[in-house]
Amino acid sequence: SDRSTLATLRGVHKQYGAVHALRGMELSLRGGELLALLGPNGAGKTTAIALLLGLLRADQGEVALFGRDPQDIVARRHIGVMLQDAQLPPTLTVGELLRQGASYYPAPREVGACAVVAGVDDLLRRRYGKLSGGQQRRVQFALALVGNPRLLFLDEPTVGLDLQSRQGLWRAIRQLVAEGCGVVLTTHYLEEAEALADRVCVMAGGRIVSEGSVDALRARVAIKRVRCRSR
Ligand code: ATP
Repeated sequence: SDRSTLATLRGVHKQYGAVHALRGMELSLRGGELLALLGPNGAGKTTAIALLLGLLRADQGEVALFGRDPQDIVARRHIGVMLQDAQLPPTLTVGELLRQGASYYPAPREVGACAVVAGVDDLLRRRYGKLSGGQQRRVQFALALVGNPRLLFLDEPTVGLDLQSRQGLWRAIRQLVAEGCGVVLTTHYLEEAEALADRVCVMAGGRIVSEGSVDALRARVAIKRVRCRSR
């Protein structure tokens, strides 16, 4: 599978007026790798992803997708996105939604295959609005796959779901990574990062303050707790 570098941020700064949202952000991701971005509200996670999606421009620093400008149409064809506030037409069936999504891409992935990966192949004839929250989220995931992305952005993909639904989505995400897709995921759940991530980046104040495996991160958190207690 493709292990080349898919996305990079180098020395990136971004301000909204007086608010310095990113201050020297560094990030790089390869194919077949899942990177989890953790951090409190306002840390800069959404801004970092918006820059990679080409929705915003950096004030300073370098942002690249597949070695290109993220606003380049060729680069944009190879990304998939699952946002938190996805609003899909409730009266369309799952099959209609996926076929419509696929029609925007020159080389889509087969709709049936996307449905299988996402675990919604038994829901293709059901209306989106009639599905449970967990089923809807898996349909949104299937929809993120129709362009056959090399890189997928998942913004808190399982927030608010019950454990069983979360585990269903985790399985689907793992399968995609095993196929060689790169994934950037934001989450507030440490156990989600633990279940999925090869690498965790903890953001605070507009930059990465800690980076490594989930185990290494847990060890550091544990050490901090011990230090606090011994004071
Ligand atoms: P959350 O977990 O709440 O989504 P986040 O880590 O994604 O937080 P960002 O949304 O990137 O953080 O926000 C970083 C900082 O930039 C915050 O202080 C936020 O208030 C500010 N900010 C974000 N978007 C805007 C905007 N459009 N205008 C002004 N300030 C903004």
